[in-house]
Amino acid sequence: MIRLEGLTKRFGNNTVLDGIDLQIEAGERIVVIGPSGTGKSTLLRCINFLDRPDAGIIGIGDLTVDAARATRKDILALRRRTAFVFQNYSLFANKTARENITEALVTVHGQSRVDAEARADTILSETGLLEKAGSYPAALSGGQQQRVGIGRAMALNADLMLFDEPTSALDPEWVGEVLDLMRRVAESRQTMLIVTHEMQFAREIAHRVIFMEGGRIVEQGPPEAIFDDPQDQRTRDFLRRVT
Ligand code: ATP
Ligand code: MG
Repeated sequence: MIRLEGLTKRFGNNTVLDGIDLQIEAGERIVVIGPSGTGKSTLLRCINFLDRPDAGIIGIGDLTVDAARATRKDILALRRRTAFVFQNYSLFANKTARENITEALVTVHGQSRVDAEARADTILSETGLLEKAGSYPAALSGGQQQRVGIGRAMALNADLMLFDEPTSALDPEWVGEVLDLMRRVAESRQTMLIVTHEMQFAREIAHRVIFMEGGRIVEQGPPEAIFDDPQDQRTRDFLRRVT
């Protein structure tokens, strides 16, 4: 189980996360929606300290980290239990698809290169990219690059996969293959926390949808409840704008 308590983040005097409380069950898939600048990316980034939270508790399984007192060891432990898929893929441009997948397995997870390469090849074939194993990101389509990004995250066997608008940077023609791969990840019962504007996909994949505004969770519930019968005026206004 994943547990966030009072997660708080400020940039200067701008409070971007205003005490987020959230529990995520193992295997649960949560989609986070909300207006631009409302703290969705920051929420994801604070969970693994890509942004350093100012306060709050982050619990993943038997690991509990008090953000205000987190040590390097705590941060590394959180990073070992999470995997992040970025909007802009964030692949290493000077590494091949296979090397992009092995990198964290070796440096963060301490696997031998041989084991990491075997794992990478399994993932490359699962994601339909084995023939691209030796290709550099620049030689891949946007959809292929993001599939490498997702494959890299899959390879980590993380307790929690975080997706920050994984299809927003893609040309429309590549969105479908990336969503298909995310469906495959979901089938593996991977715990997923996803920020996306793909409302149809959210409806289909989410166990729970969270609407955020101003650094707070305004409303949450099953997709049918949030999309078809939102209770809060702010949720209604947002959904009217985007759907
Ligand atoms: P979007 O839908 O546009 O991606 P978001 O909900 O993901 O928006 P965040 O990126 O989390 O929003 O940003 C929340 C707020 O924090 C914004 O006001 C943003 O300007 C601010 N912010 C984010 N990162 C930084 C930073 N590194 N330094 C200062 N302010 C930041
Ligand atoms: Mg964002």
